[in-house]
Amino acid sequence: MKTVISAKDIENLLSKGGNVSSLPTDAILTPSAKDLLRDLQTRDGRSSNAAGLSSNVNSSSAPSKPLNSKSSKAELEAFFNSPHCQNLKEQLCDIGRRLWGRAYVDGNGGNIAIKVGEDIALCTPTLVSKGFMKPEDMCLVDFEGNQLCGVKKRTSEILMHLQIMKRQPKCVATCHCHPPYSTGFAVAGLVPPTCMIPEYEVFASVAVAPYRTPGTPEMGKLVADLSDKHNTILMANHGVVSWSHNSVEDAYFKMEILEAYCRTILVTAQLGVPAKTMTAPQLQDLLKIKQSLGIPDPRHGLKECELCDNNEWRPGVSCAVPPKPETTVGFDSQAEDAVQAITDQIMAKLGK
Ligand SMILES: [Zn+2]
Repeated sequence: MKTVISAKDIENLLSKGGNVSSLPTDAILTPSAKDLLRDLQTRDGRSSNAAGLSSNVNSSSAPSKPLNSKSSKAELEAFFNSPHCQNLKEQLCDIGRRLWGRAYVDGNGGNIAIKVGEDIALCTPTLVSKGFMKPEDMCLVDFEGNQLCGVKKRTSEILMHLQIMKRQPKCVATCHCHPPYSTGFAVAGLVPPTCMIPEYEVFASVAVAPYRTPGTPEMGKLVADLSDKHNTILMANHGVVSWSHNSVEDAYFKMEILEAYCRTILVTAQLGVPAKTMTAPQLQDLLKIKQSLGIPDPRHGLKECELCDNNEWRPGVSCAVPPKPETTVGFDSQAEDAVQAITDQIMAKLGK
């Protein structure tokens, strides 16, 4: 006797991670089952062969009908178990490995999210090292942070990612980690000085958000408030979060760019000479490129004389704009004191 398959049967199958291609090809489909299959196939960009049970509704292409938090459980599970979603889960694992490999995360720290529908996102789980995640660890959440799919519990810091996604409709992915040099600036509450390295000027736009307990809505709001003009936000006494309008890898690139930059300028600061900075016209050229790439920056549209203001950070940095008198204090006088102290010690040892 032929099997009769209802929409409920298909939903059950999909919710267990099954695939409709495993249904018997000679089964009788109820009208609601046919409708569901048609929806699944249309969403998957396949030809609308509703009764073709043997065709695989999964493909690696994105769903043609955008999903949202109101989509049926079956639709969300079908998406969550599709090859397309598998590919995104693997991307999250890959970025996680890169974060861990570069020591940008510690313990279970760091989290990553990819927007996958109008108000839903795929994200990393809590309590798992970012270097050792598996695709099956990933979680699907709505923009309020409610978990929709996935066995592991979603990251506790997801609200911050979601608040950025809500605030920036063009945001496709977010990345959060604790890279030591950048986090050093976050602990000091300092925005890194500008006008020194082109990549940093073009691809990153950095601000510092005040400290709040990680994972709280207040933290998310403070970060989201800065996301209109900044794509990389230092969270005081915590770490960094970035967002991208291109891809999750691009969100991760912001971390590499920021961390390399913070490391480089700390080396520069130890060389005993003031850093050479770009001129305002040189910076203006970079900002033009930045604007053409759709990357936000609070300096877009500013006059040249306002572009390069490094007053917050003193170590040896003098801006192309004539420095204010107080910029000579700080590192230089401290360095001179240190050199004097060492010289005194050496002279003492030499018995002079
Ligand atoms: Zn964190």
